[in-house]
Amino acid sequence: AHLERIAVVDGAVNAFLDVDADRALADADAADAARRDGTATSELTGVPVAVKDLFVTRGQVTTAASRILEGWVPPYDATAVTNLRGAHLPILGKTNLDEFAMGGSTEHSAFGRTANPWDLGRIPGGSSGGSAAAVGAYEAPLALGTDTGGSIRQPAAVTGTVGVKPTYGTVSRFGVIAMASSLDTPGPMARTVLDTALLHDVIASYDPLDSTSLTDAPRGMAAVVRAAQQGRDLTGTRVGVIAELDGGHAYQAGVMDSFHAALALLEEAGASIETVSLPNLEYALDAYYLIMPAEVSSNLARYDGMRYGLRVEPTEGPVTAETVMAATRGAGFGDEAKRRIILGTHVLSAGYYDAYYGSAQKVRTLVQRDLNAAFADFDVLVSPTSPVTAYRFGEKDDPMAMYALDVTTIPANLAGIPGMSLPSGLSDDALPVGFQILAPQRADDRLYRVGAVLEA
Ligand code: GLN
Repeated sequence: AHLERIAVVDGAVNAFLDVDADRALADADAADAARRDGTATSELTGVPVAVKDLFVTRGQVTTAASRILEGWVPPYDATAVTNLRGAHLPILGKTNLDEFAMGGSTEHSAFGRTANPWDLGRIPGGSSGGSAAAVGAYEAPLALGTDTGGSIRQPAAVTGTVGVKPTYGTVSRFGVIAMASSLDTPGPMARTVLDTALLHDVIASYDPLDSTSLTDAPRGMAAVVRAAQQGRDLTGTRVGVIAELDGGHAYQAGVMDSFHAALALLEEAGASIETVSLPNLEYALDAYYLIMPAEVSSNLARYDGMRYGLRVEPTEGPVTAETVMAATRGAGFGDEAKRRIILGTHVLSAGYYDAYYGSAQKVRTLVQRDLNAAFADFDVLVSPTSPVTAYRFGEKDDPMAMYALDVTTIPANLAGIPGMSLPSGLSDDALPVGFQILAPQRADDRLYRVGAVLEA
């Protein structure tokens, strides 16, 4: 049914870069067999999933939406993909993204943009926009995304779906093409909080192949959701509204109305609601846009025209390792990737390192301290997931305008804490609004508990 749906709507949505129907159907048969012989390990056995094309998949082209990896067939699976296969979740295909996950709109893919199923003239968010659109357009019930600065939560918000960035280290980064390693967080996307929790439980695992993998990765989220759905009671839960993210000139009025209506629902369910100020959040966006490109410039150095994908030889002059590298990178990377590589090498260069990268790391610590202090008084912190609803293609052509919208999601990545976005209804422009919940490290269960009650 999902393959048929893809055949009908994906011409317009363009959520998928690659669909392998034969393999998906074979996986589905294997899942049936596992159910029959009692070896099914998950309730999701047999339920198909779409995978962001940043996860490497053995035998299936993986590009990170970049020309530099066009046609590359990985010889191995990412650990999260291994976990999907182990539980027999058929993989429908690979979804579109901003090149190397750099962007917030999926307009920066080398292979064309993805459309928002709510309005095909608008962005589906990004960078996991293909995954969010696939779920929102009922092409897939589940999807994998990655969140380095909001790339699961923000596309979930603007497509009316649910997305979770787990605690850093919960889902292995092994085989996830690296953007900014200290921030990269793979996670689940779906249409309900329970589905998201079920997928979380499949992909979360300790992985010795990822040096930052947690040995006690938070799991058991589906049970938390079911218990919360029974009780629907948040008595005693202290919800902190982040003052710095509670409106302002950048926020659409319809987004704020939806956000405040959701707060009233939490209060009705018994939660206490108070405002809390995190003064250093003011600098979080700036710190992210120094630390992230620094790590990007280092991670993308491996695309040198020798080891993977594209290789371009210079049209004139000598053919040396250096000139091949320059020609390949010049032709293979898009503008946004080049912009961040240049920015990153600049902030890491001698004479600027302390002023930019060093200062940004100090700000990162201050943001972490602000969050820790707030979590001493509150169980969860909340904000709108994005200041705006889905905008029209081309509306944020100025990169700074796009970056500015990440202000709400970035703190969680700087601090490694878990965050969820779930729908809180429609804005006055009839487009979906996302409600963001944040919890302390390893307390992912709180997102699912509060999210389950709000959803009900
Ligand atoms: N929008 C952010 C950026 O452009 C986040 C990207 C991400 O989370 N992968 O960097």
